Amino acid sequence: MGKVRSRIRSSIDLEQMGHQVGELMIPWSDNAVPLGYHPIPIINIKNGTGKKLLIVGGNHGDEFEGPSAIMRVSQRISVSGINGQILLIPGLSFDAITQSRRTNPLDNKNMNRVFPGNPNGSPTEMLASYLENELMQNFDAIIDLHSGGKASFFMPCSLAYKSQNGKLFQKNLELAKAFGISTIWLLGKNNDNRSLNSAADRANIPMIAAELGGGGGVDPDMTNMAEIGIFNILNHLKIYKGSDTLAGSKFEKIEISNPNASIYSPAFGLFDRIVKAGDIISKGQTAGWFHYITEPERASIKLKFEHSGIILAHSNRGIVKKGEMLALVANKLCLGT
Ligand SMILES: [Zn+2]
Repeated sequence: MGKVRSRIRSSIDLEQMGHQVGELMIPWSDNAVPLGYHPIPIINIKNGTGKKLLIVGGNHGDEFEGPSAIMRVSQRISVSGINGQILLIPGLSFDAITQSRRTNPLDNKNMNRVFPGNPNGSPTEMLASYLENELMQNFDAIIDLHSGGKASFFMPCSLAYKSQNGKLFQKNLELAKAFGISTIWLLGKNNDNRSLNSAADRANIPMIAAELGGGGGVDPDMTNMAEIGIFNILNHLKIYKGSDTLAGSKFEKIEISNPNASIYSPAFGLFDRIVKAGDIISKGQTAGWFHYITEPERASIKLKFEHSGIILAHSNRGIVKKGEMLALVANKLCLGT
């Protein structure tokens, strides 16, 4: 018996030339759709024999900057200007996107924590397996656009996986530089190997992700940055002539080398934040007040950083649960590392 093929298929032939819209079809029998399929809209633009780029947004369903940038790109690009292929998936976790939820309501799974997935698993697991084992094999590069969603806010950055394969790592870095955002977050040993970045690494496909602010809406500066970044990469891969520009000759690299440097909520309460994403912080500095709002007789405490670094992201919530990320701390790396 051979390998189980995916149950997911595309409604359009992705090898066909031209501009086509269609959908990935997930067969999942539930009360809403007992005998049909759950669609994920896709846009495929193909012409000539150049490189092939897969662009994904909505990996998490409450992050709308990436999907907005991808929809803009689909409106701007004409097939005659293309040499190669661009497959746009503006809302990968589509049922999550339609409900502004991080995880997929079909199975409550987090798309970026299920790779390599399972061809016989739940919708999200089936999709992960299809992406890792079938779809991405046909592409020369991948972009996956994220933001902090409703829960958090990230300083804008591109993410490059520190592959054990040196050549692949260099290609990931080249993509990050071409994208143009000046901060590059290197995904090292503390990265979750159930992410799309890890899947691309296993499949030996160059890839970057991006974090584009957050808040659960659409920030115009972040969306502009993503749109420009996509055109820069299309130009870099010689798929589409004419890049937009983004100041981008100087880059800084950051990494989360010490997960214990980040601050998590000590209890249920109110996080009264006084720092912002992108701030450089030093050991002993205050991140904010923590108020025991359900027990006002208790004294509020000052949450302090135990290590120096840069704030990569912070919570976007006021009320937080014990264990929630309040401030994600990374370190700047020396140039050349
Ligand atoms: Zn995300």
